[in-house]
Amino acid sequence: MSRDKLAIDGGVPIRDQPLPPMYPGGMAIGEEEKQAVLAVLEDKSLFRYRSISGSPSRVAAFEQKFAEHMGARFGLAVSSGTAALHTGLVALGIGPGDEVIIPAYTFIASAGAVIAARAVPIIAEVDDSLTLDPDDLERHLTPRTRAIMPVHMRGAPCDMDRVIAFARRNGLRVIEDVAQADGASYHGQRLGTFGDVGAFSLQYHKVITTGEGGAVLTDDPVLYERANIFHDGAGGFFGSRRQPVPVSFFPGLNYRMSEIAGALALVQLNRLEWLLRTMRSRKARIRAAIEPTMREKGLHFRRLHDPEGEAAVALILLMPTAGQAREMARALTAENIGAGSLFSEAIPDWHVAFHWKHILTRATPTADGCPFRCPLYDGDPRYSEDMAPRTLDLLGRSVHVNVSPLLTETDADQIGEGIVKVLNALRWQPF
Ligand SMILES: *Cc1c(COP(=O)(O)O)cnc(C)c1O
Repeated sequence: MSRDKLAIDGGVPIRDQPLPPMYPGGMAIGEEEKQAVLAVLEDKSLFRYRSISGSPSRVAAFEQKFAEHMGARFGLAVSSGTAALHTGLVALGIGPGDEVIIPAYTFIASAGAVIAARAVPIIAEVDDSLTLDPDDLERHLTPRTRAIMPVHMRGAPCDMDRVIAFARRNGLRVIEDVAQADGASYHGQRLGTFGDVGAFSLQYHKVITTGEGGAVLTDDPVLYERANIFHDGAGGFFGSRRQPVPVSFFPGLNYRMSEIAGALALVQLNRLEWLLRTMRSRKARIRAAIEPTMREKGLHFRRLHDPEGEAAVALILLMPTAGQAREMARALTAENIGAGSLFSEAIPDWHVAFHWKHILTRATPTADGCPFRCPLYDGDPRYSEDMAPRTLDLLGRSVHVNVSPLLTETDADQIGEGIVKVLNALRWQPF
């Protein structure tokens, strides 16, 4: 049987097994994590402010190391990426009556955190990097706009020079959602250090993980102090105020990280650069293998605003039509190269604003309808399924393949071979 016949048409698949799982830090868990967690248990010191053994807090050590690693003055560990966003927004003073511009392609938590802060998310288009389009900001500017939330989706940096310039020009704050891009950078500077606040996730699907967890970065001592107060409503009692700046207390919540998560986070942070290096190297190998065919067919990858800095967690090709993207993803998956398009009306996916039905209908947990119907809010977010048509078009035409750090060089070569095989076999007219 010919090697060229697609597996989807009954041919022999390029690989005899599916790709390895995509939990970069999660799959890297080893002896160091076990020892670190056991040490916390042996100490019986699970709470950062009460060390029974006298060992210093692992959470505090992580906060310091994380901030140093990323190049920020202050780091605050929290219980999730959503908590990091919520804490960052509250630190910035964003609340009732305010609007925050977010992209139409991001996990629903970006919007949920804005609503939890009792502000209104305004949904803008992405550009062909699949991150917030700086050219679509002006259109959404109102007297109520307070902040912009660029989201570095699938490891790729937003066009930060232009996002920051727009924010400065218009007196807006910037909170970066770095949940999918832990450790990635833009022109040599780590993501999460461009905005007033950077919010990270350490959830299991992210680059490094503590199962659930997150972190906030900022250079501003007042923002840090406000974040600290909010993330730990009991913090004043336990004497957690670490930066003596004159900020008055207000009621907070409990988004603290536990010492077990802190111990894990320290070990995972040590793995970060190796994970990034491996993903970048495997992705470069796949790219090099498919580039000639891509060029020949007139196809493009998603744009990367900094190809060297991206986390390289995924390879994303843009096809001429959504039908072709779906066909390509199906054919690749049959070759045991798991792939998907990034948007379909038929497949609910809370990474695309189109599918946020309960947000588009402004559902709220109480009947008063705050923050959408609120005496302090006189705007109209004008939500609809077709509010970001360019985003849906780009996502629908995208073919997405994970680049796991578990890929061997042989795996990477097979992915390259499989993509070339499918691109050559499918008869698409004309490119
Ligand atoms: C995962 C994710 C979040 C939320 O992080 P959690 O730790 O799951 O709360 C926020 N934004 C984006 C873009 C994400 O991918």
